[in-house]
Formats: sequence, structure tokens, C-alpha cells
Amino acid sequence: KQILKTDVFGKRYVYMDTTESTNLEARRLAQQGAEEGTVVVTEEQAAGRGRLSRGWYSPFGKGLWFSLILRPDFAPVEAPKCTLMAAVALTKAFHKMGLTDAGIKWPNDILVNGRKLVGILTEMSGSMEEISYIVMGIGVNVKTKQEELPEELKLIATSLTMEGIDIERTEAFKIILESLEHQYYEVLDSGFEETLNEWRQLSVTLGEEIEVRAPGNTYEGVATDIDEDGNLLVRIPDGTVKRIMAGDVSIRPR
Ligand code: ADP
Repeated sequence: KQILKTDVFGKRYVYMDTTESTNLEARRLAQQGAEEGTVVVTEEQAAGRGRLSRGWYSPFGKGLWFSLILRPDFAPVEAPKCTLMAAVALTKAFHKMGLTDAGIKWPNDILVNGRKLVGILTEMSGSMEEISYIVMGIGVNVKTKQEELPEELKLIATSLTMEGIDIERTEAFKIILESLEHQYYEVLDSGFEETLNEWRQLSVTLGEEIEVRAPGNTYEGVATDIDEDGNLLVRIPDGTVKRIMAGDVSIRPR
């Protein structure tokens, strides 16, 4: 059996054959004081989660299902931008693997030709003043084949294998963790500005006609930009610009 292990962004590795969810496990470890850079990785998740308690399909041996513990000393209001940071780091990692079609749909879906390759779920614990820890859960479909996908994902999910990228999970993991580490230290050193610029470059949402379902409201319009907090700016037909903090975007076919 292949052990997922690298020596970057992982002073401590916790490897599990199976677990409920790596985020749950990582939060438990963080509560007990696990240090920054701790990585929890598993072969399969019994109850992987996306945002809003949606499920994340995590079959045995087919992907990189992991969570990373961070303890940054920036303000809690900055934490949501870590999700955008992860999306940037992952997309750059895929480009490095030769998957140049990977792009980011706001806020943090990584798509290849409209299909989802990665899910990211960031959870924070702390007070208004101080971050205690951030757990970043990341699920990357690596070896999954089209015919193995459950019915409801057949048209919306993809994997590295399905995109013709033939890479071992350990090698992909190494490239991804190095990229995450690099992006994180750049943010710690110089703030989020450069990372948000890179996000803009890698986005497949900006400039598009979109529909966004935000809590309480649905808007149609053009995604014009993100602001310095990572909120999406949408210009609706009457010319008003809406600032979207959370929601689901669908890009309207032209
Ligand atoms: P996030 O935005 O953090 O990625 P979502 O809530 O959008 O979280 O992700 C969950 C959704 O992704 C599910 O409702 C499902 O449609 C889809 N999904 C679940 N598992 C997978 C997977 N392995 N690959 C691609 N898409 C998936």
C-alpha cells in the first residue's frame, strides 16, 4: 500500500486508512494544540463534507483527501481569504502538472472545462480578536475514472486522470503542499494583495455573465471583480454593483 508522505508543510503527518472527515479529525487535533503545518490525510472519508453540509465524494485510494492546520497571526476577518489563497496555490500546482485548463470559479471551486476537480472547506476557530486555528480541508480527485463517478457527479466532476494527467498521488501531493506552503508564506510576508491579483488572473468567473444565489437573493449580471476582502462584485442590468460575500455562482452559457 502506498503511504502518502512528503516532507514539506507537514512537520507532523497523521495518516489514516479511513476517517469520518479529515476536517473533523484536524479540528480535534488542533483543539489539543497540534502545531501549524500539521496535515491529516486519509485514503477515504466516510462523511466528507463541502460547504453548507453538502457531501464530498471521497472514495478509497482515488484522491487526496486532506486537511491542513494553520495558525496565522493575522486578524480573523482575513481568514476567509485563506480559501482564495488555497484555490490559487492549487491551480498553480495543476498548471505545473501540465493541466493548464484549470481555473477558479468564485470563491474556491477549481474547474476544468466547467467540471469540478477540487473542493475546499475552510473552518476557523477563535475570537473576534484572534485566530486560534484554521483548518483547511482540501479534496482533489486524482485517480477517479468517469465510469466510477456516482450518477449525480457524472456531468459535474473531473479528476486528474480524466483530464489526461498521469501522476501518482504522492507526487501530486508533494507539488500541491509545496505550492500551498509557498503561497501561505507569501501571504504572511506581504499580505493578500498579490495573491488576490493572482486569483483574478486564474479566475474563470470574472468578465462572465453569471447567476449568483446568495443567501436571501439571486442576482444575474456580470462578475466584474473581487474586492480587497475577496467579495465578488456583480454588475446587475440596472447598473448597480452588488457585493456578494457568500453564494453559489453559475456561469451562464453564451
Ligand atoms: P466547496 O465550494 O467548498 O467546494 P461545495 O458545497 O460546493 O463545497 O461542494 C460540494 C458539492 O460538490 C456537492 O454538492 C457535489 O455536487 C459536488 N461534489 C461532491 N463530491 C465531489 C467530488 N469528489 N468531485 C467533484 N464534485 C463533488
